[in-house]
Amino acid sequence: MVYDSARHATRRDVVRYGGSAAIVVLAAGCLGDDDDDAADADDDAADDEPADEDAEGVVVGTEAGFPPFEMIEDGEIVGFDIDLTEAVLEEAEGYELEEFRDMEFGSLIPALQDGSIDVIAAAMTITEEREEEIDFSDPYFSADQSVLVAEGADFEPESLEDFDGQAVGAQVGTTGEGVVEEELIEEGRIDDGDYSSYDSYVLAVEDLERGIVDAIVIDEPVGETFADDRAVEVAFVHETGEEFGLGVREDDDDLREAINEGLEAIEEDGTYDDLVAEWFGEPEDDDDEEDGDEDDEAGDDEADDNGNGDDGDDQEG
Ligand code: GLN
Repeated sequence: MVYDSARHATRRDVVRYGGSAAIVVLAAGCLGDDDDDAADADDDAADDEPADEDAEGVVVGTEAGFPPFEMIEDGEIVGFDIDLTEAVLEEAEGYELEEFRDMEFGSLIPALQDGSIDVIAAAMTITEEREEEIDFSDPYFSADQSVLVAEGADFEPESLEDFDGQAVGAQVGTTGEGVVEEELIEEGRIDDGDYSSYDSYVLAVEDLERGIVDAIVIDEPVGETFADDRAVEVAFVHETGEEFGLGVREDDDDLREAINEGLEAIEEDGTYDDLVAEWFGEPEDDDDEEDGDEDDEAGDDEADDNGNGDDGDDQEG
């Protein structure tokens, strides 16, 4: 059961950005001291959480500049992934949430591998390349890429074919960057030097607003959220049919299975739908909708109601 953002594009505008991309290290529940970054023992922050004596504390890494999946609001990390991970770990037997840690997207996989974090919750697309390094939970969300441009800009592309030497931005190490590399640079539509890679999409959006880049390639639900909030708009959606998973270490089968059971539990008890409704503005059980269910993983031929009018070109990812 995977929520497909392309089919449900309304969202509440909860996201406000102050424009700063400072990396803040905060836990949602407890404020951990995080100055011991390298040799961080798994067990030293868990002792004030008596819930289940044997439960293993789980440190979750994220990149909180990706609304509405993860972002900073009033100094706290919030978002769909945050609530989802919290709910999943509550259901995951033998484990309990210790804290969330905010870091650059490109640091998440290394941090998982060196044991500084135990789970990645960062709207991370399950890709073959990443699966060589880490494992993923079952998919929990489907998304495509979107192309963002500045409001009122001259450049109004309708597909990737309309690119011709524009300055383009994306966040380093993302599937959006993959689209830029494979479909814009390798196809000769822009040059290497036309591409700017950012540590954070928040910075990329700032440069888009300032006219330093002409377009950004970014996961569609996030592009929409920035468009609600900033002087940027979604020019078109480029279908990639990506699926997000929670990342775990390759040898951590127990945790992965517990997470999958947790995902199943929150899908069955309605928590998942509630979270989708909360963060994407989708009514939990909308009587007006004929199909009434969002279970199908690949359903993508529904009209998208976000007014783009263009589903992009027909090639897949
Ligand atoms: N889904 C994209 C990826 O996995 C972007 C994720 C992100 O920037 N947080 O590459």
